[in-house]
Amino acid sequence: MNEKDRARKIKMIIMDVDGTLTDGSLLILPDGEELKSYNVKDGAGILLAHLAGLSTGIITGKTSKALEKRAEKLKISDLYQGILNKIEVLSEILDKNELKPEQIAYIGDDLGDLEVIKTVGFAGAVADAHPEIKKHSHFICSKTGGKGAVREFIEFILEAQDKWQTVKSGFKDLIDRRERL
Ligand SMILES: [Mg+2]
Repeated sequence: MNEKDRARKIKMIIMDVDGTLTDGSLLILPDGEELKSYNVKDGAGILLAHLAGLSTGIITGKTSKALEKRAEKLKISDLYQGILNKIEVLSEILDKNELKPEQIAYIGDDLGDLEVIKTVGFAGAVADAHPEIKKHSHFICSKTGGKGAVREFIEFILEAQDKWQTVKSGFKDLIDRRERL
């Protein structure tokens, strides 16, 4: 099966955070709080996926209040933070949403993502992902983590599903409502 056939079956897109939705940088404040930056292009991509009728989720090893707020703003339905064993959470997500692994797309960057990458129907790696992740992924982004890789992955799925032209027309509205990105 080629990558387009795989992408056509997707109903839900799940993402890693550090190194995938971010470039992996952490700014540590004196009180220990961590700051990271997210990319508006990825945020817009997530909204486009929702416009196309796909749902989204996040599985991350770290925990942050800021991510909770961002996920809420972007209406990401499944947010799992502080997760050491991502494959266990994947099973939970499959049960909860009544989906099969081939209906899930997942994008990640490092070894903690490997088991999930090997399990889902359509796996993506950011351009600067670990070689092992790239080896087992069906789609390798030209963009790096935090620099629009997630957007690229989502657009590929929407194009494969012939939904890109439809959701693109809604793009201007999204830009007008920029505060939501
Ligand atoms: Mg990561």
